[in-house]
Amino acid sequence: MILPIVQAGDPVLRRKARLLSREELLGTAIQDLILSMRETMYAAPGVGLAAPQVGESLQLVVLEDRAESMVDVSSQALEELGRRPVPFQVLVNPIVTSCDPHMAAFFEGCLSVSGYRCVVPRHLEVSVTAWNEAGDPVAIHARGWFARILQHEIDHLAGTLCVDRMYPRSLCTTDNYMQRWKGVPVPEVQAALGADGRWD
Ligand code: ZN
Repeated sequence: MILPIVQAGDPVLRRKARLLSREELLGTAIQDLILSMRETMYAAPGVGLAAPQVGESLQLVVLEDRAESMVDVSSQALEELGRRPVPFQVLVNPIVTSCDPHMAAFFEGCLSVSGYRCVVPRHLEVSVTAWNEAGDPVAIHARGWFARILQHEIDHLAGTLCVDRMYPRSLCTTDNYMQRWKGVPVPEVQAALGADGRWD
């Protein structure tokens, strides 16, 4: 079932989501929710969806970055973003740790901040421990775009949105992003939108 995606301003997006027990995770209600979140993510379309985005304050994330969604991105841009296909996965009660002090700043969007894009600095490399949909422990080591998706989605579980971490002057409507900044190196965007060429 495709679920409505809640938008910024709904308090559920600002709550700290609660942990799921293994028993609850394996029950029908949460297994059905996982299927619906997957369907909702594909329909949106998006590369990740956290339970608070469908109004459920639970520590649950689905994500997938399909090769098909990269067809209109140049190979040079994919290389810069460190973006490669990521298979579908479910993360329950995830804990993220950064393992590289270096940050990367790129435009991102959020299905719950519809109509806007913003440049967000994120850790280049992270580790995540979580359970999968079967309640088995998983450990993920990710770099580049996958690391960004993980940080963005896990932020949702703490009530944090990308706009909390963005460079405020980078905020663009999606129309302006598509017309002016898609594929443009971020330093050029910074030179045009920053204050004296700086974001802060
Ligand atoms: Zn989001």
